[in-house]
Amino acid sequence: MTTLPFTFEPLPTRVIFGPGSRDQLTAEVQGLGVRRALVLSTPGQAGRAGELAAQLGDLAAGTFSGAVMHTPLRVTEQALDHARHLRADGLVAFGGGSTTGLSKAIALRTDLPQLILPTTYAGSEMTPILGETQGGRKTTRRTQAVLPETVIYDVELTLTLPPAVSASSGVNAVAHAAEALYARNGNPVTTLMAEEALRALSQALPVIVREPQNPEARSQAMLGAWLAGSVLGSVDMALHHKLAHVLGGTFNLPHAELHAALLPHTIAYNAPAVPAAVQRMARALGTRDAAQGLYELNRTLGIEPALQALGMPESGLSQAAALAVQAPYPNPAPLEERALLALLRRAWAGDPPQ
Ligand code: NAD
Repeated sequence: MTTLPFTFEPLPTRVIFGPGSRDQLTAEVQGLGVRRALVLSTPGQAGRAGELAAQLGDLAAGTFSGAVMHTPLRVTEQALDHARHLRADGLVAFGGGSTTGLSKAIALRTDLPQLILPTTYAGSEMTPILGETQGGRKTTRRTQAVLPETVIYDVELTLTLPPAVSASSGVNAVAHAAEALYARNGNPVTTLMAEEALRALSQALPVIVREPQNPEARSQAMLGAWLAGSVLGSVDMALHHKLAHVLGGTFNLPHAELHAALLPHTIAYNAPAVPAAVQRMARALGTRDAAQGLYELNRTLGIEPALQALGMPESGLSQAAALAVQAPYPNPAPLEERALLALLRRAWAGDPPQ
């Protein structure tokens, strides 16, 4: 097979991986030259963020535990005020994509260095992408200015992630890897990473749902999430991510669950246009048909397949299909509003992909 010419731009983020690696936090914060770190989290993880701040001692200026999904500007402004008040000179984000999003939004406006300790599988810590919401509208930008300096993947931090959140967050990572396999600017390196991400996640997630404390499965899933986040940050995503963006932002649906429910349908839509990529996907998932395999994976993981159960109004389906074709973006299969509406109807009802 001839390898086509390609461009590969590795991400500059320093990665520390392993159980117990949060013990290196103080040394890493010092290494960044930070003396007054602001520790960020969601309200639900405020207690653990406080423990991290205590671990940092004098290097922590304080905490802000107001991170929420989709990075609303109003929360970013509150956090910015708090950071200025504390004279913070660095950010330590403890959490999933919501907390990382807040950290990136602050870094974009202040250029403060960021150290992220991910606790879900969303993968935002590996991407130069920031999605923000204001007045119900989600906007996304891609800039190296939001890339964290350091990421500490401590598997032990994921042991408390409830099985249902682990499952949906893990399938969110699966979605990054799946679309990377047919990205227009994909290359042999991102393909290797994406395929390994799919293999690792599809093997580990069913074990995690049964045994949430299984350290090997947690480790495998975290490695898969890192690889999936890396390809999300390196190549362009297509229909799947566009639809998730439109639905999540417009109808305020839960991010990871939405990705998981949509994925079998978006892959089925694109499959005829990219047979080799979808065959590779199926091989990595250990199944004959990728879209069907993803639907089955969701079932095994107990993931809700129907968008209606996530709060998607039936009356919004036409609007969503229209929005999805409005701003053109690269996708292997042609984007047709009627076909997309049919896709959305199946996903809304929770039917298998076609
Ligand atoms: P999340 O960060 O909102 O976390 C989900 C819930 O789980 C929260 O209530 C949180 O407190 C809790 N939680 C997280 N880790 C936990 C743990 N270890 N133990 C117990 N509870 C824990 O969810 P998410 O799916 O990681 O992130 C979703 C957000 O990330 C969305 O806003 C999405 O747009 C964004 N995102 C961005 C990118 C990017 O590249 N910019 C990529 C993926 C996701």
